[in-house]
Amino acid sequence: MEAWKHFNPVRIIAKHDARKELPQILSHYIDMSALLSPRSDTPQAVVLYSLLLVTSAGMIRRKTADLLMADIPATWSVCEISPEPDLDILDQKIQELREQEKSKGKILAVIALGGGSVMDSAKAIACGLQTEFKTPLHAWLRDKKELNVSPLPLILLPTNAGTGAEITPFATIWDNKNKKKCSLAGEACFAKVALLDPSLTLSLPWVDTLYGALDAFSHALETLWNTTATPMSLSCAQTALSLVMENLPIIEEFPQNIEARSKVQEAACISGMAISQSHSSISHSISYPLTLHYKVPHGLSCSAFLLPIFDLVEKENAWKIPLDNDFKKQLRDFLKKYAPHKLVRDFCNKEQTQNLVHEMFTPERAGTFVLNLNGNDIKNILENGFTS
Ligand SMILES: [Zn+2]
Repeated sequence: MEAWKHFNPVRIIAKHDARKELPQILSHYIDMSALLSPRSDTPQAVVLYSLLLVTSAGMIRRKTADLLMADIPATWSVCEISPEPDLDILDQKIQELREQEKSKGKILAVIALGGGSVMDSAKAIACGLQTEFKTPLHAWLRDKKELNVSPLPLILLPTNAGTGAEITPFATIWDNKNKKKCSLAGEACFAKVALLDPSLTLSLPWVDTLYGALDAFSHALETLWNTTATPMSLSCAQTALSLVMENLPIIEEFPQNIEARSKVQEAACISGMAISQSHSSISHSISYPLTLHYKVPHGLSCSAFLLPIFDLVEKENAWKIPLDNDFKKQLRDFLKKYAPHKLVRDFCNKEQTQNLVHEMFTPERAGTFVLNLNGNDIKNILENGFTS
């Protein structure tokens, strides 16, 4: 038999209004009485402990962040994150939070309310606040120091359904200064709890819903042509693909359908489970330069060339497990219908993508693909994507 292993310590709670469980969940990890009566007995009565909410401008504007914080009457700090988090900006935010701790009290736990960028940033911050490095993310990501910390307890509430960051031990951080995508990875990047509350995704516009679903779809499909796939990841991948294909069209027609929203959220989490074992592959490898140079949103860039890669795997019969023809037809029809290979043309043209081939071919990602490819093969994939 082929050896395989599986490890994932994240507690998942998926239910309607799961966000309301936050106070109770938090009490498993921190001393709530200290948090809720935080002032010292000294005449200055300084605040001793606090919580940190990492979130997006949208969640603040729509007051969702306020509602969440109102459930726990503690001292809160709020850290606002923009899409595709930048390494230097995150370092700066960690320094600011350390300064704030002097007046607002030591942060006992980090709660993230947002999409992949927010959750990835929260992972970096939960690690960064626990170290004595002056610039911890630099140290880990530019100088490749080992990520060997016990992070603050981290609870993630995804507000989209896509990256699966709530379940993976990875955080993507962008080093814009050096035009590089960095990955913070390791057990320190696992959250304690993922609270999957589909009502948090109801206000997500269609385009973000689509890009998120395409990201989850990519994670699952990339597992099926991945040399590191395991029986567990392959099973997760097939389930996630079916859930996306069945439920995304329902959301497209009825955006407020909470059942369909919950199923796509489930798919994102399950495909995150798949890549947390099997990693992503060639399609993600192609995507990162597109995001760095042309600001293609992640869910679109990683799915933009799935169709030509799908056809290549099919031609070479290189699937990691046999798939029935009906299922393969459904997968291909889904890609044709939502057409990420066409949507990407709003951001860059064929020549622009082909000029980036040397950056797309990263051994750690391209190396997990079931076929041996060279730069010319990637060029052909790009060509076929633009002519499909
Ligand atoms: Zn992805």
